[in-house]
Amino acid sequence: MSNTEPVISFDNTEFAFEYKTSKQLKKASFLFSLMGKPWLVKIGTRLTPWSIKAGLPVRRIIRNTIFQQFVGGETLAETSIVAKKLGGYNVKAILDYGVEGGDDGEHGFDHATEEFIRVIEYASTQPNIPFMSIKVTGFARFALLEKLDSMMHASEGTLMKRFLKSVDELTAEEKEEWHKVRHRMMRICETAAEKKIGVLVDAEETWIQDPVDALTILMMDTFNKNRCVVYNTIQHYRHDRLKFLKDSYAAAEERDFILGAKLVRGAYMEKERKRAEEKNYPSPIQPDKQSSDRDYNAGLEFCVDNLQRIGLIVASHNEYSNLYATELLLKKGLSLNHPHIHWSQLYGMSDNITFNLAHAGCSVSKYLPFGPIKDVIPYLMRRAQENTSVKGQTGRELGLIKKELQRRAG
Ligand SMILES: Cc1cc2nc3c(=O)[nH]c(=O)nc-3n(C[C@H](O)[C@H](O)[C@H](O)COP(=O)(O)OP(=O)(O)OC[C@H]3O[C@@H](n4cnc5c(N)ncnc54)[C@H](O)[C@@H]3O)c2cc1C
Repeated sequence: MSNTEPVISFDNTEFAFEYKTSKQLKKASFLFSLMGKPWLVKIGTRLTPWSIKAGLPVRRIIRNTIFQQFVGGETLAETSIVAKKLGGYNVKAILDYGVEGGDDGEHGFDHATEEFIRVIEYASTQPNIPFMSIKVTGFARFALLEKLDSMMHASEGTLMKRFLKSVDELTAEEKEEWHKVRHRMMRICETAAEKKIGVLVDAEETWIQDPVDALTILMMDTFNKNRCVVYNTIQHYRHDRLKFLKDSYAAAEERDFILGAKLVRGAYMEKERKRAEEKNYPSPIQPDKQSSDRDYNAGLEFCVDNLQRIGLIVASHNEYSNLYATELLLKKGLSLNHPHIHWSQLYGMSDNITFNLAHAGCSVSKYLPFGPIKDVIPYLMRRAQENTSVKGQTGRELGLIKKELQRRAG
């Protein structure tokens, strides 16, 4: 690094928690220490979804604890207050309307689509909301995606060839249903292109991911000709994804569009391994954490090397990977606020990374989910599970919060 470049450190807890009062930090400390108890998280993640479905009066407890820590609010209006607050510290927001695998059929899917469009329209009126995220399962039936995925697996050729062939082989009724899914996605991307907001398409389970990838690439081919509007998510905990990233780039070169690539490690590891074992197929997940880390960092290298045609989003809480992305840029003589790179962490986690990157001049955001409590439960349960190991994320978060509380007291 040259002498003029800022030295980025993720140890500065004063910057990290500037936006939180000591009372809020104490509450977060209590919550993370509860999540540090695996037995409690195990019971909680089983009982909470059931309690909500059974109509038990648990909403207030959830709202005042885990919901407040990880979610912006139940409505867009509530969430906009949090987004504005982040803006005061040069931190942007990625709005994430937290509907997953909607169970209200076509009506629910149409409603979610309208909600996504409303979010884009709202984001376009705000100075610090450059992106919004969507889940295809928010507006497509899971079983339809699963069927398409398995048909794609059974055929040969490129992703797009397998996709088009499989759609063609659906029943007339399913074709009509798929047509609606595609139309919803088109409307979302069209509005985003018009309003100059980026759309990040989340990655989900491997057994529905192929049609999601194909649909997202089709959208990139349409909307990413001059600027990056649509981004696919690439999960490097899968052993085939570094190749997929490179293949996607080759498609972008061939079809002359900008590849939007949000790099993550992946959130469904246990579920993926369990299903592979139960159904007796080779696990799609890397053999160990080191391999996920190696591919993730190789993915960063590939994207920074090809930044002229890639819109990169570094979506991670891994300190090394976040710092490594800044080093790759500086090594190539590129600025930390290059328009083709953005960093993001989930709201409620790794504030030390987000706020210190913002201080260094990087374009960085918090992924800010919002929605009715019942709809964000799967998201909250994933956060609880991910934060349950004392050695891992929880230990890190707790340590940082305690350090800051001590600094303030001292
Ligand atoms: C802004 C943002 C958006 C996200 N969007 C998505 C999304 O769309 N889809 C999605 O799936 N996830 C998403 N995630 C979650 C992400 O995939 C990770 O689960 C989470 O961020 C933890 O990984 P990490 O890079 O932060 O780093 P670390 O904490 O260093 O890594 C933990 C991750 O490493 C991997 N890992 C751990 N142990 C092993 C092992 N034994 N073998 C192989 N791999 C292992 C797992 O993926 C685990 O989550 C998102 C995260 C962020 C910050």
